[in-house]
Amino acid sequence: MARRKKPRLMLAVETSCDETSAAVLDQGKILSNIILSQDEIHSPYGGVVPELASRQHIKSIDYVVRESLTQAGADLGDIDLYAVTQGPGLIGSLLVGLTFVKGLAYYFRKPIIGVNHLEAHIEACFVENEGIEFPVLALLVSGGHTSLYFLEKPLSYRLLGKTRDDAAGECLDKVAKFLQLGYPGGPVIEKLARGGDSRRFHFSLPRMKTAGYDFSFSGLKTAALKTIRENNLTAEHPRLGDFLASFEETVVRALLENVHKALQEFRPASLILCGGVARNSRLRSAFSELASGYALPAFVPSPRLCTDNAGMVGALGWKKYLADPSSGTDLDLDAFPR
Ligand code: AMP
Ligand code: MG
Repeated sequence: MARRKKPRLMLAVETSCDETSAAVLDQGKILSNIILSQDEIHSPYGGVVPELASRQHIKSIDYVVRESLTQAGADLGDIDLYAVTQGPGLIGSLLVGLTFVKGLAYYFRKPIIGVNHLEAHIEACFVENEGIEFPVLALLVSGGHTSLYFLEKPLSYRLLGKTRDDAAGECLDKVAKFLQLGYPGGPVIEKLARGGDSRRFHFSLPRMKTAGYDFSFSGLKTAALKTIRENNLTAEHPRLGDFLASFEETVVRALLENVHKALQEFRPASLILCGGVARNSRLRSAFSELASGYALPAFVPSPRLCTDNAGMVGALGWKKYLADPSSGTDLDLDAFPR
């Protein structure tokens, strides 16, 4: 009897928020990684509109998956297993990717690996750096999440703290929306803050009443909106660059304060910064500076892998599969929004 071929080709799908993405991987190595952003659709609203996001995923998913296969030179029939983001994310958006992949897995009788979106963001760092030493302290900063994780060993994620209210990306997006600068706010703020004097406006750092590693950004957002009103700041104001530089600097300091604190307690061997906001150059350089102050290596994914993408989902899916090859035959796999 012919021996069954060992699985190696994987199709991964990510639709947790407003990027439709599909990737093909060969034994965990990314062959193609297509990312279709919905920024233009949500831009007029200054934030992601969940119903529009899920409808757009439905329109795009077929094309995005097809394109990922074409770029990888693969056919659907070649795919040995699937990985898909299960959550957290917008429920309607998650269900589009999950249902699509379930249909394929059912038809071709192949396993599916469910992947946690936040763990996948951390995995993006391992995609480009094989020798990251454990234990790892990982700061994840995205549009919907701001979390600090400790990884004692591969695939073990201990959540040390998360935001109590707004995520850092959300805080940037809301301030940009208030100033009518466009969506997503983070990149616009970064561009307009360049060359601005970050000491011109003063913001106090968010203070949590309880000990631990949680974050809070709603107080900072309120303070920023108050400063905008009091100084009549607009998109054309000559001091806008100074204001945005001061605000961006405070967001970065608030994020890194918890990393400083956790470094004392957890003594990791490596540091990771990931998520959409990790594209920000002020944050990237402050993070690297902090790490070199502790003589620790710091890893940040390249900007494309910071964004929501199926490549990171597949990379983690593959590791999960190797760790437990019997996993992944569950067609009852559910989405979890939180
Ligand atoms: P994600 O949720 O991981 O897709 O990340 C999206 C978030 O990242 C949004 O809040 C964006 O405003 C933010 N973002 C993207 N690029 C940058 C940047 N260059 N600087 C700051 N924030 C950014
Ligand atoms: Mg994300």
